[in-house]
Amino acid sequence: MNTKEKDLKYIMHTYGRYDVALKSGKGAVAFDENGKRYIDVSSGIGVNSLGYCDEGWVKAVSAQAGTIQHMSNYFYSEQASNLAEKLCKFTGMSKVCFGNSGAEANEIAIKIARKYSFDKYGADRNEIITLRDSFHGRTVTTLSATGQDVFHNFFFPFTDGFKFVTANDIDALKDAVSDKTCAVMFEVIQGEGGVNILDKDYVKQLAEFCAERDILMICDEVQTGIGRTGKFYAFQNFEILPDLVTSAKGLGGGLPIGVCLCADKLGDVMGISSHGSTFGANPVVCAGANYVVDTVADEKFLSSVEEKGEYLEAKLRQIKEVKNVRRMGLMVGIEIEADAHDAAAKCVENGLLIITAKKLLRMLPPLTITQAELDEAVQILKKTLKEID
Ligand SMILES: *Cc1c(COP(=O)(O)O)cnc(C)c1O
Repeated sequence: MNTKEKDLKYIMHTYGRYDVALKSGKGAVAFDENGKRYIDVSSGIGVNSLGYCDEGWVKAVSAQAGTIQHMSNYFYSEQASNLAEKLCKFTGMSKVCFGNSGAEANEIAIKIARKYSFDKYGADRNEIITLRDSFHGRTVTTLSATGQDVFHNFFFPFTDGFKFVTANDIDALKDAVSDKTCAVMFEVIQGEGGVNILDKDYVKQLAEFCAERDILMICDEVQTGIGRTGKFYAFQNFEILPDLVTSAKGLGGGLPIGVCLCADKLGDVMGISSHGSTFGANPVVCAGANYVVDTVADEKFLSSVEEKGEYLEAKLRQIKEVKNVRRMGLMVGIEIEADAHDAAAKCVENGLLIITAKKLLRMLPPLTITQAELDEAVQILKKTLKEID
Protein backbone atom coordinates (compact mmCIF):
# COMPACT_ATOMS: atom_id res chain seq x y z
CA MET A 1 0.00 0.00 0.00
CA ASN A 2 1.24 3.48 -0.73
CA THR A 3 0.85 6.40 1.67
CA LYS A 4 -2.52 7.46 0.33
CA GLU A 5 -3.97 3.93 0.41
CA LYS A 6 -2.75 3.36 3.97
CA ASP A 7 -4.09 6.72 5.07
CA LEU A 8 -7.52 5.97 3.62
CA LYS A 9 -7.56 2.53 5.23
CA TYR A 10 -6.25 3.41 8.70
CA ILE A 11 -6.86 7.10 9.42
CA MET A 12 -10.32 8.48 10.17
CA HIS A 13 -11.51 10.71 7.36
CA THR A 14 -11.90 13.94 9.31
CA TYR A 15 -10.08 15.92 6.61
CA GLY A 16 -10.71 16.13 2.88
CA ARG A 17 -7.11 15.96 1.69
CA TYR A 18 -5.45 17.30 -1.43
CA ASP A 19 -4.04 14.48 -3.53
CA VAL A 20 -0.45 14.98 -2.41
CA ALA A 21 1.82 13.30 0.14
CA LEU A 22 4.40 15.84 1.28
CA LYS A 23 7.82 14.48 2.09
CA SER A 24 10.24 17.33 2.76
CA GLY A 25 10.62 21.06 2.64
CA LYS A 26 12.96 24.03 2.93
CA GLY A 27 11.78 27.59 3.45
CA ALA A 28 8.63 28.19 1.37
CA VAL A 29 9.28 25.17 -0.87
CA ALA A 30 7.94 21.66 -0.29
CA PHE A 31 8.51 18.39 -2.15
CA ASP A 32 6.14 15.45 -2.46
CA GLU A 33 6.99 11.74 -2.48
CA ASN A 34 7.60 11.85 -6.23
CA GLY A 35 10.02 14.76 -5.94
CA LYS A 36 7.57 17.31 -7.36
CA ARG A 37 8.24 20.86 -6.12
CA TYR A 38 5.61 23.18 -4.61
CA ILE A 39 5.60 26.79 -3.45
CA ASP A 40 3.80 26.81 -0.12
CA VAL A 41 1.73 29.84 0.82
CA SER A 42 -0.22 27.94 3.49
CA SER A 43 2.54 27.14 6.02
CA GLY A 44 0.55 24.23 7.41
CA ILE A 45 -2.20 26.78 8.23
CA GLY A 46 0.14 29.45 9.54
CA VAL A 47 2.16 27.06 11.69
CA ASN A 48 5.52 27.02 9.91
CA SER A 49 6.04 30.73 10.57
CA LEU A 50 9.73 30.55 9.58
CA GLY A 51 9.06 28.10 6.74
CA TYR A 52 10.12 24.48 6.52
CA CYS A 53 13.18 23.43 8.50
CA ASP A 54 14.64 26.86 9.27
CA GLU A 55 18.27 26.25 10.17
CA GLY A 56 18.29 28.07 13.51
CA TRP A 57 15.00 26.52 14.55
CA VAL A 58 16.19 22.99 13.70
CA LYS A 59 19.35 23.58 15.74
CA ALA A 60 17.44 24.91 18.76
CA VAL A 61 14.96 22.02 18.71
CA SER A 62 17.57 19.32 18.07
CA ALA A 63 19.86 20.63 20.80
CA GLN A 64 17.00 20.61 23.31
CA ALA A 65 15.90 17.10 22.26
CA GLY A 66 19.42 15.93 23.10
CA THR A 67 19.51 17.76 26.45
CA ILE A 68 16.19 17.05 28.15
CA GLN A 69 13.18 16.21 25.98
CA HIS A 70 10.43 16.31 28.58
CA MET A 71 9.87 16.83 32.24
CA SER A 72 6.65 17.06 34.16
CA ASN A 73 5.25 20.41 35.19
CA TYR A 74 6.21 19.57 38.77
CA PHE A 75 9.67 20.88 37.90
CA TYR A 76 10.90 24.29 36.77
CA SER A 77 11.86 24.59 33.11
CA GLU A 78 14.35 27.11 31.77
CA GLN A 79 12.91 26.98 28.24
CA ALA A 80 9.34 27.54 29.41
CA SER A 81 10.15 30.36 31.82
CA ASN A 82 12.27 32.14 29.18
CA LEU A 83 9.45 31.85 26.67
CA ALA A 84 6.86 33.11 29.15
CA GLU A 85 9.03 36.12 30.02
CA LYS A 86 9.43 37.06 26.35
CA LEU A 87 5.74 36.69 25.56
CA CYS A 88 4.81 38.93 28.49
CA LYS A 89 7.44 41.48 27.56
CA PHE A 90 6.29 41.78 23.95
CA THR A 91 2.58 42.02 24.77
CA GLY A 92 2.21 43.89 28.05
CA MET A 93 0.60 40.79 29.55
CA SER A 94 1.67 39.51 32.94
CA LYS A 95 1.49 35.71 33.04
CA VAL A 96 1.32 32.67 30.76
CA CYS A 97 -0.43 29.28 31.02
CA PHE A 98 0.77 26.50 28.69
CA GLY A 99 -1.15 23.97 26.59
CA ASN A 100 -0.66 22.22 23.27
CA SER A 101 -3.09 23.66 20.74
CA GLY A 102 -5.26 26.62 19.89
CA ALA A 103 -8.40 25.00 21.20
CA GLU A 104 -6.71 24.25 24.51
CA ALA A 105 -5.42 27.80 24.79
CA ASN A 106 -9.00 29.01 24.35
CA GLU A 107 -10.26 26.51 26.93
CA ILE A 108 -7.78 28.00 29.39
CA ALA A 109 -8.96 31.53 28.59
CA ILE A 110 -12.59 30.48 29.11
CA LYS A 111 -11.72 28.85 32.43
CA ILE A 112 -9.83 31.94 33.64
CA ALA A 113 -12.65 34.28 32.59
CA ARG A 114 -15.26 32.18 34.37
CA LYS A 115 -13.18 31.74 37.51
CA TYR A 116 -12.34 35.44 37.73
CA SER A 117 -16.04 36.21 37.56
CA PHE A 118 -16.96 33.43 40.00
CA ASP A 119 -14.43 34.65 42.57
CA LYS A 120 -15.57 38.25 42.29
CA TYR A 121 -19.29 38.12 41.45
CA GLY A 122 -20.51 34.59 42.23
CA ALA A 123 -21.64 31.63 40.15
CA ASP A 124 -24.23 33.17 37.83
CA ARG A 125 -22.01 35.59 35.95
CA ASN A 126 -20.54 33.10 33.48
CA GLU A 127 -21.77 33.92 29.98
CA ILE A 128 -19.34 34.62 27.16
CA ILE A 129 -20.29 36.53 24.04
CA THR A 130 -18.56 35.59 20.78
CA LEU A 131 -18.95 36.78 17.20
CA ARG A 132 -20.77 35.20 14.30
CA ASP A 133 -18.38 33.58 11.80
CA SER A 134 -15.79 33.13 14.52
CA PHE A 135 -13.73 29.98 14.95
CA HIS A 136 -12.35 28.98 18.34
CA GLY A 137 -11.55 25.27 18.07
CA ARG A 138 -12.83 21.69 17.94
CA THR A 139 -13.25 20.64 21.55
CA VAL A 140 -16.86 20.47 22.72
CA THR A 141 -16.55 23.79 24.57
CA THR A 142 -14.65 25.67 21.86
CA LEU A 143 -17.13 24.36 19.28
CA SER A 144 -19.83 25.85 21.50
CA ALA A 145 -17.93 29.13 21.52
CA THR A 146 -17.63 29.13 17.73
CA GLY A 147 -20.27 31.41 16.19
CA GLN A 148 -21.23 29.16 13.26
CA ASP A 149 -24.30 26.91 13.33
CA VAL A 150 -22.62 24.24 11.18
CA PHE A 151 -20.39 23.39 14.13
CA HIS A 152 -23.30 22.92 16.55
CA ASN A 153 -24.33 19.46 15.43
CA PHE A 154 -24.11 15.79 16.44
CA PHE A 155 -22.09 16.14 19.62
CA PHE A 156 -24.85 17.17 22.04
CA PRO A 157 -25.01 18.31 24.72
CA PHE A 158 -22.77 21.29 24.01
CA THR A 159 -21.36 23.57 26.72
CA ASP A 160 -23.82 26.22 27.87
CA GLY A 161 -23.05 29.87 28.33
CA PHE A 162 -22.18 31.23 24.89
CA LYS A 163 -24.10 33.88 23.01
CA PHE A 164 -23.38 35.14 19.50
CA VAL A 165 -23.55 38.61 18.02
CA THR A 166 -22.85 40.03 14.56
CA ALA A 167 -19.37 41.51 14.22
CA ASN A 168 -18.86 45.25 13.80
CA ASP A 169 -22.23 46.11 15.36
CA ILE A 170 -21.52 47.69 18.74
CA ASP A 171 -25.21 48.15 19.58
CA ALA A 172 -25.85 44.46 19.05
CA LEU A 173 -23.04 43.71 21.47
CA LYS A 174 -24.36 46.14 24.08
CA ASP A 175 -27.84 44.62 23.75
CA ALA A 176 -26.49 41.11 24.23
CA VAL A 177 -24.59 41.96 27.41
CA SER A 178 -26.41 41.26 30.67
CA ASP A 179 -25.65 40.79 34.38
CA LYS A 180 -24.55 37.30 33.42
CA THR A 181 -21.85 38.35 30.96
CA CYS A 182 -18.29 37.69 32.09
CA ALA A 183 -16.35 38.00 28.82
CA VAL A 184 -16.35 38.80 25.13
CA MET A 185 -14.22 36.59 22.91
CA PHE A 186 -13.14 37.53 19.38
CA GLU A 187 -10.51 37.31 16.66
CA VAL A 188 -9.50 40.76 15.36
CA ILE A 189 -9.24 39.03 11.98
CA GLN A 190 -11.53 36.04 11.56
CA GLY A 191 -9.33 33.49 9.82
CA GLU A 192 -11.48 30.42 9.20
CA GLY A 193 -14.55 32.67 8.94
CA GLY A 194 -13.29 34.26 5.71
CA VAL A 195 -10.43 36.66 6.58
CA ASN A 196 -12.88 39.22 8.00
CA ILE A 197 -10.95 42.15 9.46
CA LEU A 198 -12.85 43.83 12.31
CA ASP A 199 -13.36 47.62 12.13
CA LYS A 200 -10.85 49.43 14.27
CA ASP A 201 -13.54 51.70 15.74
CA TYR A 202 -15.66 48.72 16.68
CA VAL A 203 -12.77 47.03 18.44
CA LYS A 204 -11.93 50.20 20.37
CA GLN A 205 -15.56 50.76 21.38
CA LEU A 206 -15.82 47.14 22.43
CA ALA A 207 -12.70 47.56 24.57
CA GLU A 208 -14.06 50.69 26.27
CA PHE A 209 -17.45 49.12 26.90
CA CYS A 210 -15.91 45.96 28.38
CA ALA A 211 -13.53 47.93 30.59
CA GLU A 212 -16.40 49.98 32.08
CA ARG A 213 -18.23 46.81 33.12
CA ASP A 214 -15.33 44.60 34.12
CA ILE A 215 -16.20 42.27 31.24
CA LEU A 216 -13.04 40.47 30.14
CA MET A 217 -11.80 40.76 26.59
CA ILE A 218 -10.47 37.46 25.24
CA CYS A 219 -8.54 37.98 22.03
CA ASP A 220 -8.08 34.73 20.09
CA GLU A 221 -4.75 35.25 18.32
CA VAL A 222 -4.26 31.58 17.47
CA GLN A 223 -4.05 32.39 13.75
CA THR A 224 -3.24 36.12 13.78
CA GLY A 225 -0.38 36.08 16.30
CA ILE A 226 3.42 35.83 16.05
CA GLY A 227 4.07 38.43 13.38
CA ARG A 228 1.41 37.26 10.96
CA THR A 229 -0.15 40.73 10.59
CA GLY A 230 3.06 42.78 10.76
CA LYS A 231 2.82 43.29 14.53
CA PHE A 232 3.84 40.69 17.09
CA TYR A 233 0.15 40.22 17.91
CA ALA A 234 -2.66 41.50 15.71
CA PHE A 235 -4.40 43.32 18.58
CA GLN A 236 -1.42 45.69 18.51
CA ASN A 237 -2.81 47.05 15.22
CA PHE A 238 -6.04 48.00 17.01
CA GLU A 239 -4.79 50.09 19.94
CA ILE A 240 -6.30 47.86 22.60
CA LEU A 241 -4.91 45.70 25.39
CA PRO A 242 -7.02 42.56 25.90
CA ASP A 243 -7.34 40.85 29.29
CA LEU A 244 -6.61 37.44 27.79
CA VAL A 245 -4.71 36.56 24.62
CA THR A 246 -4.53 33.06 23.20
CA SER A 247 -1.72 32.02 20.86
CA ALA A 248 -0.82 28.80 19.10
CA LYS A 249 -0.35 28.05 15.39
CA GLY A 250 2.75 30.06 14.43
CA LEU A 251 4.26 30.15 17.91
CA GLY A 252 6.08 26.82 17.87
CA GLY A 253 7.37 27.14 14.31
CA GLY A 254 5.95 23.68 13.57
CA LEU A 255 5.65 21.99 16.95
CA PRO A 256 2.41 21.83 18.96
CA ILE A 257 1.96 24.57 21.52
CA GLY A 258 -0.90 26.73 22.77
CA VAL A 259 -0.64 29.44 25.38
CA CYS A 260 -3.00 31.75 27.18
CA LEU A 261 -1.58 35.10 28.28
CA CYS A 262 -3.33 37.16 30.90
CA ALA A 263 -3.29 40.75 32.11
CA ASP A 264 -2.08 41.73 35.54
CA LYS A 265 -5.46 41.54 37.29
CA LEU A 266 -5.85 37.88 36.26
CA GLY A 267 -2.39 36.67 37.21
CA ASP A 268 -3.52 34.92 40.41
CA VAL A 269 -6.95 33.66 39.33
CA MET A 270 -5.72 30.15 38.59
CA GLY A 271 -4.31 28.55 41.71
CA ILE A 272 -2.59 25.21 42.17
CA SER A 273 -4.55 22.34 40.50
CA SER A 274 -6.98 24.67 38.69
CA HIS A 275 -5.42 23.65 35.36
CA GLY A 276 -2.85 21.23 34.04
CA SER A 277 -1.45 19.67 30.89
CA THR A 278 1.00 16.78 30.78
CA PHE A 279 2.65 17.96 27.59
CA GLY A 280 2.18 21.69 28.20
CA ALA A 281 5.44 23.69 28.32
CA ASN A 282 7.41 20.81 26.80
CA PRO A 283 11.05 21.99 26.63
CA VAL A 284 11.70 20.90 23.03
CA VAL A 285 8.58 22.72 21.87
CA CYS A 286 9.48 25.76 23.98
CA ALA A 287 13.03 25.78 22.57
CA GLY A 288 11.53 26.03 19.08
CA ALA A 289 9.09 28.72 20.22
CA ASN A 290 11.91 30.69 21.86
CA TYR A 291 13.74 30.67 18.56
CA VAL A 292 10.63 31.78 16.67
CA VAL A 293 9.91 34.60 19.13
CA ASP A 294 13.54 35.79 19.12
CA THR A 295 13.37 35.99 15.32
CA VAL A 296 9.91 37.51 14.88
CA ALA A 297 9.74 40.04 17.74
CA ASP A 298 12.08 42.41 15.95
CA GLU A 299 11.04 45.72 14.38
CA LYS A 300 12.87 45.01 11.12
CA PHE A 301 11.45 41.53 10.80
CA LEU A 302 7.92 42.74 11.52
CA SER A 303 8.07 45.60 9.03
CA SER A 304 9.36 43.17 6.40
CA VAL A 305 6.17 41.14 6.92
CA GLU A 306 3.98 44.15 6.15
CA GLU A 307 6.17 45.11 3.16
CA LYS A 308 5.91 41.61 1.71
CA GLY A 309 2.16 41.72 2.28
CA GLU A 310 1.83 45.00 0.40
CA TYR A 311 3.92 43.65 -2.45
CA LEU A 312 1.83 40.48 -2.63
CA GLU A 313 -1.46 42.38 -2.50
CA ALA A 314 -0.44 44.70 -5.36
CA LYS A 315 0.49 41.68 -7.50
CA LEU A 316 -2.74 39.87 -6.67
CA ARG A 317 -4.83 42.89 -7.59
CA GLN A 318 -3.33 42.78 -11.10
CA ILE A 319 -4.91 39.37 -11.72
CA LYS A 320 -8.10 39.80 -13.73
CA GLU A 321 -10.03 37.04 -11.91
CA VAL A 322 -9.27 38.49 -8.45
CA LYS A 323 -12.28 40.51 -7.27
CA ASN A 324 -10.86 41.80 -4.01
CA VAL A 325 -8.07 41.20 -1.52
CA ARG A 326 -8.51 41.36 2.27
CA ARG A 327 -5.17 41.59 3.98
CA MET A 328 -3.17 42.56 7.00
CA GLY A 329 0.54 41.69 6.92
CA LEU A 330 0.84 38.22 5.40
CA MET A 331 -2.70 37.12 6.29
CA VAL A 332 -4.45 37.29 2.94
CA GLY A 333 -7.97 36.51 1.74
CA ILE A 334 -8.56 36.51 -2.01
CA GLU A 335 -12.10 36.93 -3.36
CA ILE A 336 -12.70 35.13 -6.64
CA GLU A 337 -15.79 34.28 -8.65
CA ALA A 338 -14.84 30.63 -9.17
CA ASP A 339 -15.35 28.00 -6.46
CA ALA A 340 -12.47 28.48 -4.02
CA HIS A 341 -12.09 24.77 -3.24
CA ASP A 342 -11.83 23.84 -6.91
CA ALA A 343 -9.39 26.69 -7.49
CA ALA A 344 -7.23 25.63 -4.53
CA ALA A 345 -7.14 22.00 -5.70
CA LYS A 346 -6.11 23.12 -9.21
CA CYS A 347 -3.42 25.38 -7.71
CA VAL A 348 -2.01 22.40 -5.82
CA GLU A 349 -1.89 20.39 -9.06
CA ASN A 350 -0.01 23.30 -10.60
CA GLY A 351 2.54 23.43 -7.76
CA LEU A 352 1.07 25.99 -5.34
CA LEU A 353 -0.02 24.90 -1.84
CA ILE A 354 -2.86 27.26 -0.93
CA ILE A 355 -5.88 26.99 1.36
CA THR A 356 -9.39 28.43 1.51
CA ALA A 357 -11.47 30.36 4.04
CA LYS A 358 -15.19 30.05 3.33
CA LYS A 359 -15.57 31.28 -0.28
CA LEU A 360 -12.12 32.86 -0.42
CA LEU A 361 -8.69 31.61 -1.25
CA ARG A 362 -6.41 32.19 1.72
CA MET A 363 -2.67 32.70 1.88
CA LEU A 364 -0.66 32.43 5.10
CA PRO A 365 2.85 32.18 3.64
CA PRO A 366 5.86 31.64 5.87
CA LEU A 367 6.92 35.05 7.17
CA THR A 368 10.36 34.39 5.70
CA ILE A 369 9.11 33.90 2.12
CA THR A 370 11.21 35.70 -0.50
CA GLN A 371 10.02 38.12 -3.16
CA ALA A 372 10.96 35.64 -5.88
CA GLU A 373 8.84 32.96 -4.19
CA LEU A 374 5.91 35.37 -3.90
CA ASP A 375 6.28 36.13 -7.63
CA GLU A 376 6.25 32.43 -8.41
CA ALA A 377 3.16 31.89 -6.23
CA VAL A 378 1.29 34.71 -7.96
CA GLN A 379 2.29 33.37 -11.39
CA ILE A 380 0.87 29.92 -10.59
CA LEU A 381 -2.32 31.42 -9.16
CA LYS A 382 -2.77 33.64 -12.19
CA LYS A 383 -2.29 30.73 -14.59
CA THR A 384 -4.66 28.52 -12.60
CA LEU A 385 -7.45 31.11 -12.36
CA LYS A 386 -7.18 31.67 -16.10
CA GLU A 387 -7.42 27.91 -16.76
CA ILE A 388 -10.63 27.52 -14.75
CA ASP A 389 -12.24 30.78 -15.89
C1 LIG B 1 -6.86 27.17 14.29
C2 LIG B 1 -7.61 28.02 15.23
C3 LIG B 1 -8.04 27.52 16.48
C4 LIG B 1 -7.87 26.07 16.87
O1 LIG B 1 -6.54 25.72 16.99
P1 LIG B 1 -6.12 24.15 17.10
O2 LIG B 1 -4.64 24.20 17.33
O3 LIG B 1 -6.51 23.51 15.82
O4 LIG B 1 -6.85 23.61 18.27
C5 LIG B 1 -8.66 28.40 17.34
N1 LIG B 1 -8.85 29.68 17.03
C6 LIG B 1 -8.45 30.19 15.85
C7 LIG B 1 -8.67 31.63 15.56
C8 LIG B 1 -7.83 29.38 14.91
O5 LIG B 1 -7.46 29.88 13.72
